[in-house]
Amino acid sequence: MSDYLVRATALDGKLRAFACITTDIVRELSDRNNKALALASAALGRTATMAVIMGVMLKGKETVTLQIRGDGPLGKIVATADSEGHVRGYVDNPHVELPTKDGVVFGDVEKLDVGAAVGDGFLFVIKDLGMKEPYVGSVPLATGEIGDDFLYYFAQSEQTPSALGLGVLVDKDQTVSQAGGFLLQLLPGVSDEDINYIEDQIKQFPHITSLLMKGQTPEQILQRLIPGEIKFNEKIEIGFQCDCSRDRFARGLISLGETELVKIAEEDKAAELVCHFCNEKYHFNEEQLHELVRDAKRD
Ligand SMILES: [Zn+2]
Repeated sequence: MSDYLVRATALDGKLRAFACITTDIVRELSDRNNKALALASAALGRTATMAVIMGVMLKGKETVTLQIRGDGPLGKIVATADSEGHVRGYVDNPHVELPTKDGVVFGDVEKLDVGAAVGDGFLFVIKDLGMKEPYVGSVPLATGEIGDDFLYYFAQSEQTPSALGLGVLVDKDQTVSQAGGFLLQLLPGVSDEDINYIEDQIKQFPHITSLLMKGQTPEQILQRLIPGEIKFNEKIEIGFQCDCSRDRFARGLISLGETELVKIAEEDKAAELVCHFCNEKYHFNEEQLHELVRDAKRD
C-alpha cells in the first residue's frame, strides 16, 4: 500500500480526525539521511508523520516546520510539510545507537529509547502562513518520545484536547518496515460519554505499526478509535518532496557578496553545496563561480 492520508469528521462535526500511512516517506527520509539507523529513523519518521498531518490542516502555499531541539545525541530533528501532503526532513546525527529500554543492544523497535536519544529541550512549531512573520509556537519536550511532546504542544499551545499516535517500525537490519500515525482533535461540545469511549479505546490501542503490519488501513484505524459514524472527507496521496534547486543555491552563493565569492572562486576553484533535506549535491566549478561573481556585481 503506498502512502496516503485520510481526513475525517465524526460526532456531528465535533471531532476532527486524521490517519496516515507513511512507510514510503520514512524509508526515503531514512535513505536520504545517509542511511539512518533505527533510532534516527524512528525519531525523524515520527516527526515527519506529524508534519504531514499538520501540513494538510493548512491551506494553499502555507507550510509547517517542526523542530525538535533536544540535548541528546541525535541533535536537531527537522521536518517541513506543505498543505498538499509533501514532506521533507533531516536529523543532525543519523547514526546514533543506544541500548534499548530493556537493556538489549538492539532488538524490538518499540523498546527503542527515542526519549534518551532526543534528550531534554524544546519543540518548535513554525507555520508560514504567508504573513510577514511566521507563527512560532514552542513547548518544552515532555519525554522526547515525539508523540508525547506533540500531545503536550496541542494541549498547551493550541488548547485542543487531542489524542495521537505516531509509529515507526524498524527491522533488525535497520530498514523501515512500517510507519504511520493518527490524530484526533476534540472540539467543544463532545459529550463525556464519547470522551470516555475514546479514552478507553486509546488505552487498549495496540501500537499503530502492529496494525499496519496486519494490513489495517488508516480508515480502519480511525474506526477502532471513534464511536458512531465517521465521515471520510478526503483521501490525499502523500510523499517525500524537496523544493531545493540549483537556482536557489546559486542565489545563496550570490548573497555571500562579491568579495567572498571571488575568494571561493580563486582559492577553492569550486564549491559543492549539499541540501540538508534531501542530500542532493549542487556543484559549481570555477567558471560558474565567476559567472555568479558577475551576477553579484549587478545586484
Ligand atoms: Zn533538497
